[in-house]
Amino acid sequence: MQIKEVIQFLEQNFPLQWQEDFDNCGVQCGDSSRKITGIVVCFDMSEAVIDEAIAKGANMVISHHPIIYKTGLKKIEPTDRMGRIIIKALENRILLYSMHTNIDSGKNGGNVLFAQKLGLKNLSVLSPKENQFHKLVVFVPSENSIFLKEALFKAGCGNIGNYSHCSFSCEGIGSFKPLSGSEPHIGKHNRIERVEEERIEMIFPKHKKRQVIETLYQNHPYEEPAFDIIAIENQNREVGLGRTGLLPNPMPAKDFIQYVKEKLNLESVRYSGNLNTEIKKVAVCGGGGASFVNDALAAEADAFITGDLKYHDFFIPDNKMLLIDIGHFEGEHFIREIIVSLLQENFNTFATHFTEVEIPVINRL
Ligand SMILES: [Zn+2]
Repeated sequence: MQIKEVIQFLEQNFPLQWQEDFDNCGVQCGDSSRKITGIVVCFDMSEAVIDEAIAKGANMVISHHPIIYKTGLKKIEPTDRMGRIIIKALENRILLYSMHTNIDSGKNGGNVLFAQKLGLKNLSVLSPKENQFHKLVVFVPSENSIFLKEALFKAGCGNIGNYSHCSFSCEGIGSFKPLSGSEPHIGKHNRIERVEEERIEMIFPKHKKRQVIETLYQNHPYEEPAFDIIAIENQNREVGLGRTGLLPNPMPAKDFIQYVKEKLNLESVRYSGNLNTEIKKVAVCGGGGASFVNDALAAEADAFITGDLKYHDFFIPDNKMLLIDIGHFEGEHFIREIIVSLLQENFNTFATHFTEVEIPVINRL
């Protein structure tokens, strides 16, 4: 099996289209046409993890954070950390791959697991992703519409939340004149033809565009099907950064902080807000979620848990919400568990290892 087949599987679960604009998910360096020999999963790339992959005979390392990130990369030299890691990987024919904001945002991704670790119920996305869908409008002879619709549903059209096979149709008259050289399904050369047609509308995730167009051409009876693909601004309410949810039982803020520390195995947290409140609705965003404090307030969360907050961020809620900083690593490290179990459950021809050598870069004394 080639590395690219594993990548294809990962990207079916966490498409690259789910990443933020600033991000660099996916292959960092390496040749994905090589045969896969094993995988090591880590949080951050390091030379130690590459050495671990070499020792374990693995030729793919998957990290959460991309090694090539927000950098105007001009050269790769062993004079800095990034250069040394990339050179070591390439010299040892190891492919580096990252699952960052695509797995943070995804269904069953990092923020969902974060919320589940706190026992939150009735989850919704804190900041739903926009511009994720296209709409297909296609005109087909009425007698062929069921067949075409079925094929398009199979190709990924018509899914909205927990509903599949969503479409809208209306009837009308299509007209056309087959010119010489054409091989019309209906009609004769140089004569205007009028046909009872159905106009079908359905949405699909924009990353499935190629597949949808291929399916349309393969299953539409016309030589030249008429169709529109329209970019739409609808939010994907299942994908995006952060989650909100409800505690099974509301609790005083002071107890809630203790609860968070226990559930996430933390020695201490930083927080601002009033401890004499009751916490019921909770928002979470793993990693650095300072830019979502206002989304959490708008969602009327009683508490927002994230990491990487600066001093002045703690003033934003203005005592309307408990704001808790657990650290960047502490809200995301379990993403490694998601990747490891996904691979171990679906592939048995190579080994997937949870790194044994990684230690967090920030320590406490
Ligand atoms: Zn992060």
